[in-house]
Amino acid sequence: MSIFSADAALAALKAPPRGEPTPTPLEQAAFDAGFAAVARLMTRDPIALAGLADAYAQAEALWARTRSTPFFLRNAARAACGKGCSWCCHQRVGAAAVEVLWLAEALRARDDCTTLAARLAVWSPAGPCAFLVEGGCSIYELRPMKCRALWHVDARHCMSAYAGLPAAVPPAAPGVVIEPKQVYEGALKGMALPLNRSGLDCPGVEFLPALKAVIDRPDATARWLKGEAVFPNEVRLDWFPGPTKGGKRRR
Ligand code: SF4
Ligand code: SF4
Repeated sequence: MSIFSADAALAALKAPPRGEPTPTPLEQAAFDAGFAAVARLMTRDPIALAGLADAYAQAEALWARTRSTPFFLRNAARAACGKGCSWCCHQRVGAAAVEVLWLAEALRARDDCTTLAARLAVWSPAGPCAFLVEGGCSIYELRPMKCRALWHVDARHCMSAYAGLPAAVPPAAPGVVIEPKQVYEGALKGMALPLNRSGLDCPGVEFLPALKAVIDRPDATARWLKGEAVFPNEVRLDWFPGPTKGGKRRR
């Protein structure tokens, strides 16, 4: 039986900590979509994280609707993102613990699982993402919310961030396209915050080391649902509710 209670989680979330910025309508819509998907799957018996795919589908649909609005088409700067541009895949990526568990299950079910697991096994933090292959993401349809959130109008900015250099473009120049960030990070919070508030261990984690910790453990989700902490402290990040660990650069 799950310790998750959608009602209790929602009640807790209605009282945001003082000083927390009010979400934009777009972020709130994404949050609601993420929350609804998690509430649906966590109140089922047995719980199957496969249902988390709904949260991604909802976020993708919301982003598709947003970028086809006249306002966005008229006002948003064109992003430089595209296949072959991958400075962002050379930086550490944050994810929610529940995303990593879901992704581990989805990867285990893929035909190329052995290849992907082998790439992950030899991955080192000094290198690019284990799933970056010939300039493209080899798990594109499963990539974490944070990967989906990043749109930038000037790849020089991303290159500078990778190299640890001062920004290569003037601060006044258009930079990150904010709407995908609001959508995907809103959905991410909608998925993870209720789980956290309900007592499950769902902190922000560093994506690849966290995935490495659970990819070979098919019982990881079941243990996590029982309240066990299945991720080591070293992979926890300080950008999300939950036990913190400071100092790591991530996007
Ligand atoms: S976020 Fe930056 S590095 Fe990544 S695809 Fe877009 S422009 Fe390229
Ligand atoms: S998962 Fe894909 S998009 Fe995300 S960092 Fe890795 S290669 Fe890039």
